Amino acid sequence: MISIIHTKTKPIEEVKNAFLKLMSQLNYIPSKTRVLLKPNIVDAVKPQTAVITDPRVIEGLILALKEKGVDEFVIGENSGYFSIKKDNFRRLIKETGYQKIVERLKKKRGIDVKIINLQFAELEEYPWTYGILKLPKICSTHAYINIAKMKTHQMTGVTLSMKNQKGLLLFQDKKDFHLGYDGAGSLHSCIREYAKIIQPELSIIDGTRALEGTGPATGPENQTKVRRLDILLAGRDMIELDNAACKIMGFPIEDVQHLPRKEVKLAPGSEPLIPADPPFQKPNSYMKYGNIYLHTSSYGCTNCQMAFSRMFRKIMFTPEYIKKFHLLQEKYPRIDVFIGNTSITEIPNLNNPVIFFGKCTRSIADELGKNFIPGCPPNHNKALEVIFNL
Ligand code: SF4
Repeated sequence: MISIIHTKTKPIEEVKNAFLKLMSQLNYIPSKTRVLLKPNIVDAVKPQTAVITDPRVIEGLILALKEKGVDEFVIGENSGYFSIKKDNFRRLIKETGYQKIVERLKKKRGIDVKIINLQFAELEEYPWTYGILKLPKICSTHAYINIAKMKTHQMTGVTLSMKNQKGLLLFQDKKDFHLGYDGAGSLHSCIREYAKIIQPELSIIDGTRALEGTGPATGPENQTKVRRLDILLAGRDMIELDNAACKIMGFPIEDVQHLPRKEVKLAPGSEPLIPADPPFQKPNSYMKYGNIYLHTSSYGCTNCQMAFSRMFRKIMFTPEYIKKFHLLQEKYPRIDVFIGNTSITEIPNLNNPVIFFGKCTRSIADELGKNFIPGCPPNHNKALEVIFNL
């Protein structure tokens, strides 16, 4: 059973009341007085981008949980690239506005909230299809609540509550998910199997602002757009909740390979499930950066995408590189860059310049004798050199 409610992110009392209503419709009472909140804080960007769970949604949820008797609040995230270096994690928390809500909750409400980098959390082992998975112990010592963002995703179609659980994984397992544990599975089967070994006691999807197009991060040239839906969805079953979100986004369940089909039942008092009109724009199989077409196979992971995105941001914010990029666009109408294990059939035209980005592409780069940028992920400065030396 799931429930849907309309709310804006301001004033904060409105968000809190929306959560109180959702919890009461779902008969949800936290099982413990301490909670782990797992939002999506994947990139150091503002909530207006719709790339991260809005920190005001988390603030309203904390206020509602406080009224339900919770007295210890931990926000946990492992955001791949940002979690490896402690300074980067601090920057992530500050730039996304999470630091600000923690300070405000302390100052105005006297509520202590801890934010932890799950890459360095105490772990416990879970046997699963692909061996043993190490997950943060806090998932079992605290009431675990998953708060995903409603977004499209280039590799998985959508990223909702099942996919948001990837943020509990260690850096190496995040990569192994994309590699399907040496080909034993795929990213899709890993997400599906993972949902069998760990489940939040409450899942929430933040659709206050949602992301459509070629997500999950903001794309250049309007390849992603923010959809203001002003809704929150909640339920105890991630699969049912993600089915409901796909219906709202207008995506057939069969197109989301990790998601089993499940009937959606609305809790008494829920607002109706109405598909967005028009449906969400679907992701392309590539992201376009000027004349560069970036293709990420489902075997490619976010770390290479982040490295590419850092490289591109550097181009956009450095006058000397902006000039070089203009020249590059005049020289070549199209350059194809590939991330992740790629087969030759995925390369649209071998007559265009082709660059293979990252260790996973080494064998095809060698086979075809094409440009290769080593690293796992590659250093973005080295990648710049290769691109400007084409
Ligand atoms: S090379 Fe890139 S895509 Fe492959 S595992 Fe390393 S970071 Fe991920």
